[in-house]
Amino acid sequence: MVDILIATGNSHKFREIKSIMGDFAELNIVCLDKSFQIEIVEDGETYEENAKIKTEGYIKFLDENPGLKSELNLSYIVSEDSGLEVDCLNGTPGIFTARYAGENASDTDNINALLNAIKSKKNCMQNRHAKFVCLTCMYDVKKHSFHYFRGELNGLIDKEVSGAKGFGYDPIFFVPEFNKTVAQIDASEKNKISHRSIAFRRLAETIKESGPAYESKTYKRI
Ligand code: IMP
Repeated sequence: MVDILIATGNSHKFREIKSIMGDFAELNIVCLDKSFQIEIVEDGETYEENAKIKTEGYIKFLDENPGLKSELNLSYIVSEDSGLEVDCLNGTPGIFTARYAGENASDTDNINALLNAIKSKKNCMQNRHAKFVCLTCMYDVKKHSFHYFRGELNGLIDKEVSGAKGFGYDPIFFVPEFNKTVAQIDASEKNKISHRSIAFRRLAETIKESGPAYESKTYKRI
């Protein structure tokens, strides 16, 4: 098995990632218990920088906790930074998506802030095209190297919320091919098309193709 730590405290993201990576039987996806306090200041200027900041925060935490580190015996530490880019708002909120309505804003606050911004900007109601972006930063523990994978999901920002599945902006993100918002489709459907799914499948394929990591780890455990 190849043990991969998903460096996130977001249980929605972790659930999706675990399910997406479930197609790769050789990959063992784990996360840290919520009781571990890992301080991360996301002050990067791009998704890449923020994702790397998160990964490095977990690397540092594990270096400071060698017992836990050796118990986990990880091959990779992976974080992701994601966001929503709305065309008529010049690609914003982007890296500020989680705090669009301010620090500690709820999903409802963020959705309302976005709908209001679209309503109040000229010509924005006519062009509602948007995309979700996911950028993963994967640290190869053995090689001490960082690798990045990106995924995008195109759609439209709906005029009102519909559906109760998913998280974040899912209730207003309309996917034309389903004729539904992401919050109206099942998790299994979302995980076939989502930005997160594209980025993490690319990552998983790369690990698979990098053979030696797979083989040596499998060999070790026999
Ligand atoms: P961050 O990656 O922690 O900076 O947060 C990104 C923010 O983008 C999340 O808090 C969500 O509000 C939003 N987001 C990212 N991915 C999704 C998704 O799959 N569905 C809905 N909202 C998302």
